[in-house]
Amino acid sequence: MLPPSTSKAPRVPKAPKINHCERRDNILTQFSIIEVARLCNIQIKEQSRAEIRCRCPFCNNKRNKMTASLNESKGLFHCFRCGEGFNAVSLYAEIYGIDTKEAYQDLMDKLG
Ligand SMILES: [Zn+2]
Repeated sequence: MLPPSTSKAPRVPKAPKINHCERRDNILTQFSIIEVARLCNIQIKEQSRAEIRCRCPFCNNKRNKMTASLNESKGLFHCFRCGEGFNAVSLYAEIYGIDTKEAYQDLMDKLG
C-alpha cells in the first residue's frame, strides 16, 4: 500500500549551498584588505610588504596608535589590542553597520 498523501510538501532538497569556507576564500582573494581599509577611512601606516599596521577602528584609541595589522596575502584585519579580527567584507560590514551581503555588494560596486 502506498503511504497516504499528506498536505505537506515533500522534502525537496534545496539548491546546494555554497560551501562557507569556499565562499569566504573567494571573498578573501577578491578584495584587497588594504583597499577595504581605505574605504573604511582606517589610518594606514605601510611599513613592509609583510606587515601593514593600521589604526583599529574598534579600539577607543585616543593616541592613534597603530595597534592593528592588515595582512594582504591572507586578506585579514587583526587588532593586537582588542583582538578583533575580520576579513575584508566583514570589516566593511562592521564599520558601516550593515550585513555581510550588503557589504559584499557595496565592495563589488566600489572595487569589483
Ligand atoms: Zn582594536
